[in-house]
Amino acid sequence: MQFIIEHKEGRARTGKIILSHGTFQTPAFMPVGTQGTVKAMTSEELETIGAEIILSNTYHLYLRPGVEILRSAGGLHEFMNWHHPILTDSGGYQLFSLSDLRKIDEEGVQFRSHLDGSLHYFTPETVVDIQRYIGSDIMMVLDECTPFPCEKEYAISSNELTIRWAERCKQRFDASERLYGHSQSLFAIVQGSVFSDVREHSATVLTGMDFEGYAIGGLAVGEPSDRMYEMIEICTGILPQNKPRYLMGVGTPENLLEAIDRGVDMFDCVLPTRNGRNAQLFTQNGIINITNAQYKDDFTPVDDKCECYTCRNHTRAYIRHLFMVKEILGLQLATHHNLYYYQWLMRNARQAIDEGRYFLWKQQQLIKQRNSSHNIN
Ligand SMILES: [Zn+2]
Repeated sequence: MQFIIEHKEGRARTGKIILSHGTFQTPAFMPVGTQGTVKAMTSEELETIGAEIILSNTYHLYLRPGVEILRSAGGLHEFMNWHHPILTDSGGYQLFSLSDLRKIDEEGVQFRSHLDGSLHYFTPETVVDIQRYIGSDIMMVLDECTPFPCEKEYAISSNELTIRWAERCKQRFDASERLYGHSQSLFAIVQGSVFSDVREHSATVLTGMDFEGYAIGGLAVGEPSDRMYEMIEICTGILPQNKPRYLMGVGTPENLLEAIDRGVDMFDCVLPTRNGRNAQLFTQNGIINITNAQYKDDFTPVDDKCECYTCRNHTRAYIRHLFMVKEILGLQLATHHNLYYYQWLMRNARQAIDEGRYFLWKQQQLIKQRNSSHNIN
């Protein structure tokens, strides 16, 4: 993996990350394809909207279809016919949010599948092995994602465990072989809840272990936005300048713009896809709920400034109709538009940084979003 920084404005930066499956521009938004599919989108559509990397999930792919099928298929890229970069989350977050009866100790996590209750065991080593079978371009270490709120004592001991697990993941990574001919990289995850000194410690120790990139995890789990921004700022102040920083599972357009301003390079979030399926559409003037009665005879596009397939071909009234009669095309058009919007946001953020006007552009975007927030829902 190669990371080239192109322009900087304050802490915000643009660049590109070069991997075996291609190059992606940063700051980047990764559409979420938890089950080896970005819901309601074909690979071709993902290319059309400008997605250059997607995210998938170790926990889910391990349970279904399982590593044997992925191995036989020649890895996830082949299996799902997506030949650009893929990042896989380790499954740490899912272990703590989805699975029942998990038991955590020094060695790893025992858990019951959220699907059929069957018993499984993840260790830092097995999580690396599974990601070798998946063949993701960027793999994540196994971490413990602390809930919010969280006692400081627990945040400290949990973070120490995450650091020891990161070390074990790295050892396994260095000692194991890639399976499909393309190279893979491993990122560490900074934890520490909302405690400045725990975050500082985590970022410092992990930086010393020399990973290829660093994620900031355990945020957007219920803490106020200001605390989240504060934690991001602490992390990006310590993490190495020449390595990518990835903020996991965040967030709203506003969160993304604030995090870019604090030096974050990569994002993933279910908001554009999940909200799209729930009739919430992101526009350059804020969010609209397309099922509202006011759109029943509105024959304008979702966003008249948007150039996506949905906006070029369909009206608000038609999309509202599709949602009202529960036709699947409604979910497809909404998802397509929302993901296009997130890619548009990243493209424009990159351009603004390249031209040294990011701070001003961000302020303008935030004002537009906030002015319209009264109309949400
Ligand atoms: Zn659109």
